[in-house]
Amino acid sequence: MIEISGLTKSYGSTTVLDGIDLTFGDAQIGAVVGPSGAGKSTLARTVNLLERPTSGTITVNGRDLTALSGRELRAARREIGTVFQSANLLRRLTAAENVALPLRHYGVSDVEVRRRVHELLDRVGMLHRAAHYPSQLSGGQRQRIGIARGLALAPSVLLSDEATSGLDPDSTQSILTLLRELRDDLGVTILVITHEMDVVRGIADQVARLDHGRIVERGSVADVVRRSDSELSRALLPLPPAVLAPPGHRTWSLRYDIASVSPFWVAGVGREVGADIAVLSALIEEAGRGSVGRVTIAVDPAVDDHVLERVLARHGLVPERAVLRAVPGAEPAA
Ligand code: ADP
Repeated sequence: MIEISGLTKSYGSTTVLDGIDLTFGDAQIGAVVGPSGAGKSTLARTVNLLERPTSGTITVNGRDLTALSGRELRAARREIGTVFQSANLLRRLTAAENVALPLRHYGVSDVEVRRRVHELLDRVGMLHRAAHYPSQLSGGQRQRIGIARGLALAPSVLLSDEATSGLDPDSTQSILTLLRELRDDLGVTILVITHEMDVVRGIADQVARLDHGRIVERGSVADVVRRSDSELSRALLPLPPAVLAPPGHRTWSLRYDIASVSPFWVAGVGREVGADIAVLSALIEEAGRGSVGRVTIAVDPAVDDHVLERVLARHGLVPERAVLRAVPGAEPAA
């Protein structure tokens, strides 16, 4: 587990991180998102102890790493493995030699290095590429090697710093699957720093939004997405553009308000209000053992607004008035 408390980083009079508090437990994937310039890279460099915070603490498994120096700090760095953007492998070394680097740096014996590198390459599905050089590997394969290297010293925390940036969608998905497996199999805490919302939706248990060096919103991904009025909610689950409503129909933008919305709600609501429901756009995903979603529907205006709202509420759906105004051509229903 990692506990970041009151973390502040200033360069001269510029405060880049301003009192960050974040805790992610064992076998949990926590994501930190934010726009360019929010302080994500600085947070990554501070968390993996490449830079010292101006104040605050970073506690891993009960030990404050920021209080250490010298030999202790060197030993403590093992607790946090890092996977960098585009893997950052050394070009002149093979995949196996890249994975071996941290082990050699910490003076692990040759026999043990060979055993461990074999095990790690096997774990990330890259044994068959052990003797390849980075230039002979795809972006996704290089990132697998980067992950194996990040895990070499059996850290408690794996920090993924924009690790899927620049990968194609298939490679991104396969890396996310691997990270989920590592969380489940090794119980490692994974801290994902990213600007990609798909990545957060795909793997994160918890998410925090960083803006101007502060955490401005946080929560489990499912909870955040079920919030109607939050910027992070809309970024994580954007409502896709809607097709045109049937003539004379009124448009409603809805959000799944509970985890257990029935997959048959469209028919159910239609039956109860006595009119067919047209679905104009929908984005529905699994999150936190339930579904989250945003949907645009069109309904015959003969259906009373209040009746419709009550029926929708019984099915676990609520209208999103803020979005309604933003849907082109939509006539606000309330
Ligand atoms: P992000 O990764 O979210 O894009 P960064 O952590 O790179 O954000 O940068 C956040 C802010 O901190 C930026 O305004 C950047 O100019 C500033 N910054 C980053 N590193 C330094 C530094 N070494 N000295 C001064 N300012 C810095």
